[in-house]
Amino acid sequence: MPPHPKSWLKPLPEGLFCEPGNFFIDPLRPVDHAVITHAHADHARPGHAHVLATAGTLAVMRTRMGADRAGDVQQEIPYHQPLTINGVTVTLIPAGHVLGSAQIVIDHAGARAVISGDYKRQPDPTCAPFEPIQCDVFITEATFGLPVFHHPAAKTEIQRLLDSQKMFPDRTHVIGCYALGKCQRLIAELRAAGYDAPIYLHGAHMPVCETYQRLGVPLGNLRPATVAAKAELRGAIVLAPPSAIADRWARRLEDPVVAMASGWMRIRQRAKAGGIELPLIISDHADWDDLLATIRETAPEIWVTHGAEEALIHAAAKMQIRARALRLVGYGDEDAA
Ligand SMILES: [Zn+2]
Ligand SMILES: [Zn+2]
Repeated sequence: MPPHPKSWLKPLPEGLFCEPGNFFIDPLRPVDHAVITHAHADHARPGHAHVLATAGTLAVMRTRMGADRAGDVQQEIPYHQPLTINGVTVTLIPAGHVLGSAQIVIDHAGARAVISGDYKRQPDPTCAPFEPIQCDVFITEATFGLPVFHHPAAKTEIQRLLDSQKMFPDRTHVIGCYALGKCQRLIAELRAAGYDAPIYLHGAHMPVCETYQRLGVPLGNLRPATVAAKAELRGAIVLAPPSAIADRWARRLEDPVVAMASGWMRIRQRAKAGGIELPLIISDHADWDDLLATIRETAPEIWVTHGAEEALIHAAAKMQIRARALRLVGYGDEDAA
């Protein structure tokens, strides 16, 4: 009998630990050996001695935290290329979440566990699509793990933005979006919809966009958005961090249409409370149906990390899938920022 993953994959205070391989996955504190799923700040922390990740993840980590803090030794591994570490085999498989994002497949003595990190099933022109991998235990996030969460196609939401722009050609459309992933995906979707005017960025958004472009993701003409140059921004599309929307940076623009791109925009009260005139339901996380489809496709047992664990565990049980909450603290939700 292959050893059940619960005997060799353990939640420790530092994070999820693969005992025979002697490495952590997305550890919350500095460790000797870290395997990183993706570069969002709650998964990729600075200060590890040895970091194993995709080239895309490492590049974004260096951009966001500085080259020296992204790991003393930074080891790149391409998708689909198995690597043996202390007798266990580690393979990185696309997770479809952001550029470089990977599921970590661990094979040990005939047993297989997959740690998804964050993932989505919707198409995204800026990253490789999620691939379901059959395994004994699938470790899933549950950010949008409630039946109310349904994400429409991104193209539909982008069209709503373009329609609004047509309706209010003199107003500045300012869209709150997270700096890694969401921002670049919005730009790429706008380009795919034929929008080829310059897109203006809050200063916080420029560095990661440049990294994406350097790694071969075309984003077209991007310009810095300075509130001082209000007139130039009339009728334009401006992307800014959700915090800049909240702190009224956006309101200093000329007669802005304030929008937000997030899975949370499904909750109308949330949009209203945030003063969002144009809520766009665009998320880089799986919605409820995609969570269920994914666990059905992958494993007879799931462990659930951050998000709405209870509802997903209940739904899994009804599908004859064993499920338990993996109590790992410290993972936030970049989408709600
Ligand atoms: Zn993430
Ligand atoms: Zn996360």
